[in-house]
Amino acid sequence: MTLTVHQFPCLQDNYGFLARDEATGKTACIDTPDAAAILSELDKLGWKLDLILNTHWHPDHAGGNAEIKAATGATVVGPGEVTRLTPLDREVVGGDTVQLGETRFEVIETGGHTLGHIAYFDAADKIAFVGDTLFALGCGRLFEGTAEQMWTSLQRLAALPDQTTVYCAHEYTASNARFALSVDDAPALQTRAADIFAKRERGEPTVPTTIALEKATNPFLRAPVLAGRVGAEGKPDYEAFGAVRAAKDGFKG
Ligand code: ZN
Ligand code: FE
Repeated sequence: MTLTVHQFPCLQDNYGFLARDEATGKTACIDTPDAAAILSELDKLGWKLDLILNTHWHPDHAGGNAEIKAATGATVVGPGEVTRLTPLDREVVGGDTVQLGETRFEVIETGGHTLGHIAYFDAADKIAFVGDTLFALGCGRLFEGTAEQMWTSLQRLAALPDQTTVYCAHEYTASNARFALSVDDAPALQTRAADIFAKRERGEPTVPTTIALEKATNPFLRAPVLAGRVGAEGKPDYEAFGAVRAAKDGFKG
């Protein structure tokens, strides 16, 4: 079981992902931010699309479904909320599995950014596609869910193996790093932030990341440690998380 991932920037700050099961040549795209860009990447690689995997219903994640399905005949799989925007061939929930050739994705429920948000985890290759739930040094805004729901979702991702490669759907990392430095002075964060600013200067991506790196430096996963810095001392972990999230929402930097 080997999954090859091809990542490319599209729209303003989204990433497109094509994932190919090497044993069978079966190919999936994770979310459909930009149909034209995705179809052109498939063409360049000479890959034929079999599956569309949506993480949530937002247009920069499912907006290209119809055009890509029409062009490729791919099967569309996602959480039920996607039907608010566009039809699905198969609705999945946390605990389900989705097969791409010999690669098996576990569906993980990660509501919070939207209520029905899900992530896809390939345990054999230790690869996770997390949409807008976990970002490099960040997490998604709470558009629909509560701080408690999002904290629970983030803990599910944090429980994946340390070496897991994490594909986030946006390049928000430099701005996330500026916020992280405002609430956390961990040496590992300082080192990582310097690396991130240098990479962005050179126009390089900071995605993918890993679970180990996020556990060590992401202020949202470190919320319980930072509780005193955000006025949530002695509060439950999810409230500390909510306070970090609120601080980020109000952060100008
Ligand atoms: Zn979103
Ligand atoms: Fe998004």
